[in-house]
Amino acid sequence: MVLAQLGGSISRALHQMTNATVIDDKVLNDCLKEITRALLRADVQSNLVDDMHTNIKNIVNLQHLAAGLNKRKIIQQAVFDELCKMLDAGKPSFTPKKGKSSVVMFVGLQGSGKTTTCTKYAYYHQKKGWKPALVCADTFRAGAFDQLKQNATKANIPCYGSYMESDPVKIAVDGVERFKNENCDLIIVDTSGRHKQEAALFEEMRRVSEATKPDLVIFVMDSSIGQAAFDQAQAFKQSVAVGAVIVTKMDGHAKGGGALSAVAATKSPVIFIGTGEHMDEFEVFDVKPFHSSEYLIFLAFVLGMGDWSGFMDKIHEVIPMDQQSELLQKLSEGNFTLKLFQNILKMGPISQVLSMLPGVSAELMPKGQLDSSNPKIMNESRIMRIARGSGRQVREVMEMLEEYKKIWSKMKGLKFPNKGGMSGLSRNMNA
Ligand code: GDP
Repeated sequence: MVLAQLGGSISRALHQMTNATVIDDKVLNDCLKEITRALLRADVQSNLVDDMHTNIKNIVNLQHLAAGLNKRKIIQQAVFDELCKMLDAGKPSFTPKKGKSSVVMFVGLQGSGKTTTCTKYAYYHQKKGWKPALVCADTFRAGAFDQLKQNATKANIPCYGSYMESDPVKIAVDGVERFKNENCDLIIVDTSGRHKQEAALFEEMRRVSEATKPDLVIFVMDSSIGQAAFDQAQAFKQSVAVGAVIVTKMDGHAKGGGALSAVAATKSPVIFIGTGEHMDEFEVFDVKPFHSSEYLIFLAFVLGMGDWSGFMDKIHEVIPMDQQSELLQKLSEGNFTLKLFQNILKMGPISQVLSMLPGVSAELMPKGQLDSSNPKIMNESRIMRIARGSGRQVREVMEMLEEYKKIWSKMKGLKFPNKGGMSGLSRNMNA
């Protein structure tokens, strides 16, 4: 996904802004122009980008900012907050519980991968000990029932549909009832998709939803849809209570911004991604860059909850020119390698460097000397190598690793995209 590159572009824009001698309207506009361009390049819908731009301009009114305020920080904070707002999807509206009968309805345009994804979703849960079942309420597309039945048979999952009945509502209701009686705990209803967003599709979907009362409606979206994703996702959300998103065909060349737009339009998180045509090419969506702790650290680093400008100054001061961009790149990828540690350690007294890192509040700062037998994060020879490479004492390296471990576990405790995730992060970092 290109979203990691998006992060890199945003960090570069902020970096350039931090380097300017005076922060004036031109510097702010240039910085926002870069960020806007990067978001559009990643296929984030232009309305969202415009809104973000306007909001930041409203928050950062340079003429009205009192003298003495740190304009760089205010800009970084505004960018961070706006990005979080765009990404903060909340929790799925419902999470099925094993052993308790739940109905999950799938919606999406034809060709989005909806039918394939229904089976993938069922298969994923079956492997985890659930008793799933599939209902084909797609009477529009010839062969839809056969396709679902074929997939279901391969995975040994019961499937209900009809060649005779033309009312999708009746099929859906009958299927759900039957599988409830058979004590299936995850009843998945596949609905029709059409080429265009016809009123009839939405009406049918609404009726199926009303009749089966799904606990969760999942919107399935083809990742290559790009800019159109926002409008589509929104149209579905307006008709049925979409509570989660699954993005398919992530194995292709999609830019990823469409997924971001769908999240924004439905205010629902991406819960799985499809990564191929096969049943098991399906992943829980906790991969970079939306969810991983590396990415949270990266966002925190890059978007300046810590003392970003101080951190940058240190980088310029201590790290040789030709290694700076590599270091920044690694940081932006959340790639905490041995060399990165060595470079961070070159930046000054541990406590000083750590205090620049986001999430390191006073309570996390080293209190006296740490027990050097304690950290088990790396083996001895690695620690020695880091120490040698950075010109620091082994004890200092161990202190750093211990702190890193604490930051790491703190970051990992912050769930994203669940509600309170990103905002929780910023709360945490402001603490
Ligand atoms: P529907 O019309 O929305 O029900 O879409 P289908 O489930 O019939 O899928 C349309 C096409 O997309 C089929 O050829 C699927 O094999 C393919 N497809 C679905 N999900 C993925 C995916 O994650 N990756 C790839 N490469 N192809 C997929």
